[in-house]
Amino acid sequence: MIVDMSSLLKDIKKQIKAECKRSGVRKDIMKRILCVDRLLEFTIFLKGNIFKAYRSQHNNVLGPYKGGVRFCKDVARDEVKALSMMMTLKCALLNIPFGGAKGGVAVNPEKLSWEEKEEVSRGFVRGASPILGPDVDIPAPDINTNEEVMAVMADEYSKITGRLSPGSFTGNTLERGGIEGRKEATGYGGAVILEELCNLEGLNGATVAIQGFGNVGSNFAFFASEKNCKIVAISEKKEGVVAKEGLSVKDVWDYKKKTGKICVAGENKDDILEMDVDILVLAATEGVIHKKNVEKVRAKHIISIANGPVTRKAEKFLRKKGVIVVPDILASAGGVIASYCEWKKAKKEEDFSKEKVFSFISQRMKEVFREIYQNKKERTLSETALSISLHRLEKAMLDKENKMR
Ligand code: GLU
Repeated sequence: MIVDMSSLLKDIKKQIKAECKRSGVRKDIMKRILCVDRLLEFTIFLKGNIFKAYRSQHNNVLGPYKGGVRFCKDVARDEVKALSMMMTLKCALLNIPFGGAKGGVAVNPEKLSWEEKEEVSRGFVRGASPILGPDVDIPAPDINTNEEVMAVMADEYSKITGRLSPGSFTGNTLERGGIEGRKEATGYGGAVILEELCNLEGLNGATVAIQGFGNVGSNFAFFASEKNCKIVAISEKKEGVVAKEGLSVKDVWDYKKKTGKICVAGENKDDILEMDVDILVLAATEGVIHKKNVEKVRAKHIISIANGPVTRKAEKFLRKKGVIVVPDILASAGGVIASYCEWKKAKKEEDFSKEKVFSFISQRMKEVFREIYQNKKERTLSETALSISLHRLEKAMLDKENKMR
């Protein structure tokens, strides 16, 4: 794993620079995209403990800043900066009128009671509220945060502002303005990509291994198990289950609900990354495939649903071997697309049923996938995706400049 999170920022900056140079994006625009608009760093105090908190707003030329808030013990400034850049690129690629942001609190949620987690959530909003708002910056769930956390954050925000402010947070509980389908949306979008990849590559009954069984990985697994494929391995943290004849996702899920783990503790399947499968799905964390372990990857193709799980160098190496890596800025987009639906509904602009949300996700993600897939012989999919995003951002920035004149 990449332990040094600043390498994620270096990696994404290198990709942006290389792509801007290659596809002729103006230098001044490139320089702007390489910076974040604003980075807020503050402290949350809880029972004698001090937690660092961050909100990075990268760019809002396409719309209000948008992105999740994660609670992870080693969240760092450079990590949220990198992730906010990736949100801008993701929204631009999918043509969703949002900019990019990300937040985080450096806290180990496993050590918190629900009441303490609630306090941390309220503390995050107290620190970040001056730069949030339904038309300014709209947080959403991310690693270790969920709809209950969003409901608490929305509640704290309305106490501070003295208004209800619909649309100020997405990924809410249904009672607080959330929409059906948002929780499953990222996993659902990943499964849309899986199906499309199998269609385009002519894979029938593809074998699939999944790294990560949190909200995203487990929902992905449920949707994938309804498709024409066989899930042969699932891993989470230090544990893993493997079955050549195919796994029952429901059994794994039930076991996890009962025990908190996906299988007997200590059954270590670290080698999920090295399994000989048709498709390896990365739904855990950053930097899991890098230059030191990439040679051991035997999967035919990879879908990146976590943020930045394959480094730039590793991806180049894989392309030479004919391995398609579907980039995270596409494969993880289901969540923010559903957030957009939730936001529009909250603002009373449009109503969305679960079916409508899912069909919007499916249509938009397939369209973009086909567009970037066409170029797969010449360039990695993430290079093509990046080029589309960067050109869209450049155009929007130049249009804005021209309007100001
Ligand atoms: N954690 C989600 C992501 O990274 C949240 C996006 C959103 O809905 O704002 O895509």
